[in-house]
This record gives sequence, structure tokens and C-alpha cells, in this order.
Amino acid sequence: MPLLEVEQLKVHYPLRRGLLGRVVGTVKAVDGVDLTVNAAETVGLVGESGCGKSTLGRAILRLTPPTSGRVRFEQEDLLALSGRDLRARRRRIQMIFQDPFGSLDPRLTAGDSIGEALEIHRLTPHRTARSTRIAALLESVGLTAAHAQRYPQELSGGQRQRIGIARALAVEPRLMVCDEPVSALDVSVQAQVVNLLQDLQRSHGIAYLFISHDLAVVRHLCQRVAVMYLGRIVETGPTAEICTAPRHPYTQALLAAVPSLDPSRRLRRLLLPGEMPSPIHPPTGCPFHPRCPVAEARCRTETPLLRTSTDASHRVACHLVPSP
Ligand code: SF4
Repeated sequence: MPLLEVEQLKVHYPLRRGLLGRVVGTVKAVDGVDLTVNAAETVGLVGESGCGKSTLGRAILRLTPPTSGRVRFEQEDLLALSGRDLRARRRRIQMIFQDPFGSLDPRLTAGDSIGEALEIHRLTPHRTARSTRIAALLESVGLTAAHAQRYPQELSGGQRQRIGIARALAVEPRLMVCDEPVSALDVSVQAQVVNLLQDLQRSHGIAYLFISHDLAVVRHLCQRVAVMYLGRIVETGPTAEICTAPRHPYTQALLAAVPSLDPSRRLRRLLLPGEMPSPIHPPTGCPFHPRCPVAEARCRTETPLLRTSTDASHRVACHLVPSP
């Protein structure tokens, strides 16, 4: 059984205009997404900015209310829970943000920030035990007990992200939704944080949904990948297979833009014309058709379903990719 199962999840917003806020349309930020994450697995969610991947991450935690669909975590329907039950279940899913500066309270020291998470969930009620736990958490993310006294503004970007990870770790999550967690960091620091996430997975058995626009990082870190375009998953499968033999023209274009020194991984350069259309007025048929170099007439009218490709684990939403 997967740890997390997302079924036909939609996040639609009404688009309002004018003084009276009349509804003039619908923004389909997430439009019928299916996704699973297994225990201790890392699944990458990739796509250009504005494709809906961050909204999907937030909707899984109900930080953004879903319009419809289902989010099952540890076999429980999160969308059916409320109040204390929801808080208790949500503790097991933590979110790591791109900008740890924005997610840490500048008035709290790193130690207070981590201690607050422990206190909210009543995990270590006694002060001495809490200090010992905070020191252990700081060490587990490669910092020292002395960092507990520092304020966010006294720390580097990488150290702040480590504090954010320690804070998430404090409540013993089974899943972390990481929303572009390294993209604001220097390249050398990025590698350190990615290695830290891998070490924590090995030691704590945590699963990650790793949201990123950076396919090089996703290739290094994730066992499976889901590629998102305009609110939908267009291709999903094992990372090695997607990266060496992508089937969807959009995935091919994304991968062609990633430099690789390995000749076997170099793909024919495929440039994407134009920009991603607005989710307010998505194209008819296949949402990718205005930019697709191999689009056919039916692509303008028929929306392709996400179907099994080479094997059950690899699925593609494209009319030109045959089913086995
Ligand atoms: Fe391109 Fe058509 Fe496939 Fe969409 S369905 S990706 S437009 S070929």
C-alpha cells in the first residue's frame, strides 16, 4: 500500500473581476492529478514554474483547499478529517519551503523554533529533555548545539534550510513535501542539503515528494518522477527510464535543456516555442498542443489520458505514444 495516494485531485479558483467581484472564469491550477508515494521513497515532481506543482504540494497538506479528489495518507482520507484528527495526521507530513527565511520566525532563535514544534505537538514536555532533543536534532542536520542560540538572520541560507529541516524532523514525519528546497541556495550548498536529505531518508525512513524545476537534482535524488504541465501529470515512471527514454514531447524538451557530460544521456536538442499557456484559458484538447513539435489535428480537440506505456509503472498522456 502506498504511504500517500492522491486521486483525481483538483484545485480550481474562481477568477473574479470588477468592483463586485463577479466570477468571470476558473483557474485550473491542479486539474485531476493522480500520484502515489511509497514509504521511504523519493518522488520528484517537475515542471516549469506556474505548472501547478507547488499548489499540488500545498493541497496535499490542505494548506490550499482542494476543490475535489482524494488524498489518502497512511490509508486515511485526509480531506475527510477535521480539527484534532487532521492536526494529528498532518504532523506526519511536513513541508520544507524554498525560502527558509520566510518560514522561520525572525523573533525566535533556531532552538526556540524547533522547540515550538515539539511543544505544539507535546512531544517533549519537560524543558531539560527538550533542550537535549533540540541539540540532537541540530546535530542530525549537520549543525551544533551552539546554533540553537542563533536567530535566522545570523545564519547562512544553507544553515537556515538545515534549521527548517530540523524543525520538520522534530515531529517525526513519515513524509516531507519539499518545495524547491535547494533552488535558492548556492550550488555547493545545494549538494550538501541534497546529501543531508538522502542521509535522513536512510536513517529515519522518511519519504519525500520533491518538487523542483531542476531535473539534474531530481535525477540524482528521486526513484520516480512525475512531470507536470498546466495542472496535469503528463508523464510518470522510474527516474532512470524517464531520463534515458522520455516518451512525452514535453519531457523530451525539458530533458534536452539539461546539460549532460554523458553522451548516452544527450538527447536531441528540442526547443520549446512560446510560454506555458495560462491556466485561466487552457488550450482545448492536449494542453501541450500549441507548443508541441509533433502535434496532429486530433491533439487540438481530444485530451489524451495518462495511460500505461512500456510497462505498468511508466505512464504517458500523449496520443502518439502507443500502449503496450
Ligand atoms: Fe503533442 Fe499531441 Fe502528444 Fe499532446 S497529444 S504531446 S500535442 S503529440
